[in-house]
Amino acid sequence: MKLETECIHAGYTPGKGEPCALPIVQSTTFKYDTTDEMGQLFDLKAEGYFYTRLQNPTNDAVAAKVAELEGGVAAILTSSGQAANFYAVFNICEAGDHVVAASTIYGGTFNLLAVTLKKLGIECTFVDTDASYEEICAAFRPNTKVLFAETIANPALVILDIEKYAKAAHAHQVPLIVDNTFATPVNCRPFEWGADIVTHSTTKYMDGHGLQVGGVIVDSGNFDWEACGDKYHGLTTPDESYHGIVYTKQFGKKAYITKATSQLMRDLGSIPSPMNCFLLNIGLETLPLRMERHCSNAQKAAEFLDAHEKVVSVNFAGLPGDKYHALAEKYLPNGTCGVISFELKGGREAAVRFMDSLKLANIATHVASSRTMVLHPASHTHRQMNDAQLLEAGVSPGMIRLSVGIENIEDIIEDLRQALENA
Ligand SMILES: *Cc1c(COP(=O)(O)O)cnc(C)c1O
Repeated sequence: MKLETECIHAGYTPGKGEPCALPIVQSTTFKYDTTDEMGQLFDLKAEGYFYTRLQNPTNDAVAAKVAELEGGVAAILTSSGQAANFYAVFNICEAGDHVVAASTIYGGTFNLLAVTLKKLGIECTFVDTDASYEEICAAFRPNTKVLFAETIANPALVILDIEKYAKAAHAHQVPLIVDNTFATPVNCRPFEWGADIVTHSTTKYMDGHGLQVGGVIVDSGNFDWEACGDKYHGLTTPDESYHGIVYTKQFGKKAYITKATSQLMRDLGSIPSPMNCFLLNIGLETLPLRMERHCSNAQKAAEFLDAHEKVVSVNFAGLPGDKYHALAEKYLPNGTCGVISFELKGGREAAVRFMDSLKLANIATHVASSRTMVLHPASHTHRQMNDAQLLEAGVSPGMIRLSVGIENIEDIIEDLRQALENA
């Protein structure tokens, strides 16, 4: 099936007389007839539902759909994008380990790696996202377990050279985890360029209507954990909390996702509700249509801003003069995303005047949704960072992040035009 068809049909095939729409299985528990039947489930010896913290039919159908969209072997849904990135890293890292990450990643993920994981004994080295192959390699240590980056950085809009990062990761026998939130599998499938694990905040385009907060981790099944000796011993040696199961032996290419479910979900419990998975699934059905419109609207909005006298600079890889245009043409030939960032001549004060003059666009801590939204990263999402950290994250104090929606582009541009008059 082609991606557009998968968006509608993957993950759930109704049988005769069954609902066409994915049913919401709003139940915590599932019934069995004998003690032994349920015992087998706890030992991971039989497959079946028993408790929604571990697995639920609605959630599983949507996870299977996302796995197909990314071209992976298995996926797990989480209650937020933050939980997805936390689990993706923590599933293969423990105290004493080290992570290398691109510096322009989303502010929440930056904090997760720089502050919270550090408290758990996991250290992170950040490299310039545009660093050379040699510079990326120089950040690796013997205890490095993960290389982490975003396809399109939120909000810096830096495009990742995925092949370069994959090569650096694999040269050190480490998997590359790529947060593919902004691109979505419609515009880029990182596994095709060598990434091993993909994460998403499904809160963004995948949902697309701003209805639910969610995340997903997808495994390509390509990384050979056993080839790394005991480096990933959580996957390759017996798990005493699961009667000595060896994930790679029992689950093969699904080892990583099975471990995330049976250890991390069991113990940390960041599950999405079946209702939220149902809403996410509705969003996924129209994802290709919406991405096409987001990208074409953003292209026109970026061209308008770029030509405006009050605008100093526009970051949008669809513009031929953009620093990342060539990388975007390689990795995202059908378009990047609907998010633009730009800088006004008047700096921070002009940015605030502009934002307060908008009528159609909402000021909201959100992006990648049907409605056009704006945000001032320095006073909102990135306000915990000092000026040096802002610079490193590719965010300047006067930068405005504009998430172009799927309204009529003439209305969007008219709103920008009248607000720029007051800026
Ligand atoms: C929003 C976002 C996150 C965090 O996701 P939540 O669903 O808000 O927890 C992580 N990564 C990227 C790239 C994001 O845009």
